Amino acid sequence: MRNAIKILGIFIGLIGSTGEVHAQAKALINTSASPYAKLRSVDLDDVTWIKGFWADRFKVCRDSMIPNLWRIYTDPKIGHATQNFEIAAGLDTGSHVGPPFQDGDFYKLFEAVAAMYAVTKDPKLDMLMDQTIALFAKAQRPDGYINTATSIKERKHPGASAVFKERLSFEAYNLGHLMTAACIHYRATGKRTFLNIAIKATDYLYRFYKTASPEQTRNAICPSHYMGVVEMYRTTHDLRYLELAKMLLNIRGMAKDGTDDNQDRIPFREQTQAMGHAVRANYLYAGAADVYAETGDTTLMHTLNLVWNDVVNRKMYITGGCGALYDGVSPDGTSYSLKDVQEIHQAYGRDYQLPNFTAHNETCASVGNILWNWRMLQITGEAKYADVMELTLYNGMLSGISLNGKNFFYTNPLSVSDDLPFKQRWSRDRVGYIAYSDCCPPNVIRTIAEIGNYAYSLSDNGLYVNLYGGNILATRLKDGSKIKLTQQTGYPWSGKISIRLDQTPSKTFSVFLRIPGWCTGGAHLTVNGKEINTPLLSGTYAELNRNWCAGDQIELILPMPVKLIEANPLVEETRNQVAVKRGPIVYCIESPGIPKGKKLLNLSISPKEALTPQSILIGSSKIVALDGKALYDDKGWGNQLYRDVSDHKRSVVTIQLIPYYAWDNRGHSEMETWIPVEEQ
Ligand SMILES: [Zn+2]
Repeated sequence: MRNAIKILGIFIGLIGSTGEVHAQAKALINTSASPYAKLRSVDLDDVTWIKGFWADRFKVCRDSMIPNLWRIYTDPKIGHATQNFEIAAGLDTGSHVGPPFQDGDFYKLFEAVAAMYAVTKDPKLDMLMDQTIALFAKAQRPDGYINTATSIKERKHPGASAVFKERLSFEAYNLGHLMTAACIHYRATGKRTFLNIAIKATDYLYRFYKTASPEQTRNAICPSHYMGVVEMYRTTHDLRYLELAKMLLNIRGMAKDGTDDNQDRIPFREQTQAMGHAVRANYLYAGAADVYAETGDTTLMHTLNLVWNDVVNRKMYITGGCGALYDGVSPDGTSYSLKDVQEIHQAYGRDYQLPNFTAHNETCASVGNILWNWRMLQITGEAKYADVMELTLYNGMLSGISLNGKNFFYTNPLSVSDDLPFKQRWSRDRVGYIAYSDCCPPNVIRTIAEIGNYAYSLSDNGLYVNLYGGNILATRLKDGSKIKLTQQTGYPWSGKISIRLDQTPSKTFSVFLRIPGWCTGGAHLTVNGKEINTPLLSGTYAELNRNWCAGDQIELILPMPVKLIEANPLVEETRNQVAVKRGPIVYCIESPGIPKGKKLLNLSISPKEALTPQSILIGSSKIVALDGKALYDDKGWGNQLYRDVSDHKRSVVTIQLIPYYAWDNRGHSEMETWIPVEEQ
């Protein structure tokens, strides 16, 4: 009965008889009716960036990132993505071009377009989406299945089914991104065209998994569909989709040949640490968090808590990057017998195994980390998840894209040296198209297009401010009352944040301001110029509860001293080295930041070095650099492996550090994030 009332309530509350999407159901993830989520998102179009860091990134996303990547994906000589759909639909002849996950990556780009449309209402984007959806519809089989690589294969070999036959076909991954993109399109436009395709596809997947063998579930490589299926449930309230999402988690670990790389050697609920391919892992954890938000299944949260603590305390880079290893063997292999050792790739390593030169840190794993922590934040309202999300947004995610929005990193190492005498698989400079692995570019671009949705959340008690940036928020509290505010700040370069309430409900409500974990003292808060005695504890939300009036002014000061950070000595690669942080920004030093002809590897800095913030431009992007001095080892190393310390000769050189995310925007460069410390 309780369920019946709840479901009826959802239908009345969210999708009216006209099919129109109602307020607070138009979010990136819609937890507005999720029984086990404390927070819900604002709508996709509730935040308008006006000035500052995210306003600048959002503008580059609108004007450069999206049009550029769309051109690349639809260019038959490069991405070939729309051509694949045309061939699959029988509108053209030819072969599938691109990796098996090309459809999914194109859906991610489509999702970015939909999220951008939600804010800009640009009719050209709407038309582009309509045309593309018509093509998707033609490529979908009557039974709901849609995947261009397999459909094209079947066209060439009629009668031989290729569906869900190959483990690395990424069909479920592609379908998952289709579902998410369709939900965002529906919320952005109110049109059901793409959603109807996604409903048919989800129905297909539901029927498939009803009868699939555990071995067939191994096709769940990189499970974006866990998030996608739950979002489809949130959009349609079809209980079969929630059943499917639960089933997808339950069947993991039932296949005989499961691997740690794919997080399915042991059942999800028995897992205690992050393991295997980091993108797949983080997508899985985000999907499991979605299932928890709907079911309250504490056995899922138990695993999520264990794994989150493992990642944050032992396996995550200082940038929020995840996945230390290019290739390796699972630390958790079932035995010491060599024949049982399992390969892993692009994967989490052992505890504290965080190499710098060879760090894999796929950009998609950073996006996965954001997706996971965003969901954990919505479930719990705990600021520690917003801290990881913010850290990863500004550092490990943003490093994946150049400042002009047109070049991309697949991997995000923390050090790059041209002297390393071996070549790594992925480029050490950003490239315009990552041939055969272009999963990261659309993932970053959709995250930036959707950045407004991460900035605020709503609870029964009021408004949560998660991210700081110059924007206008116009949204509604749960009871429908309107709230509007203007936020002005130079964040992340300045810790001064001003929020003016422009429209407020007549009743009392709270504004929850995030006091970031990096702010370990000196935060200061006033309302209308009067000091507030609310505790401003690092890594919490400070609650301001009152009967607000239009014109009320909140001022928050978060001091942003430059900090030298050291790692636990069990991280052997960073012993006696420091990283530099200011606010949420991790700094690095690259070749243009030291005197010409000098080598980065010969630098060290004093632990007492006072680095001075300095505004500079890289391209047309305003950046705060840090100026200072370093010691330089004039002797250098040559070809030596070892040498006598007493040989050292040191001179003093000037250096300029820049944010890690902004490196490699001034031509080919070496780079270092952890710098050796040495007393001057
Ligand atoms: Zn990727």
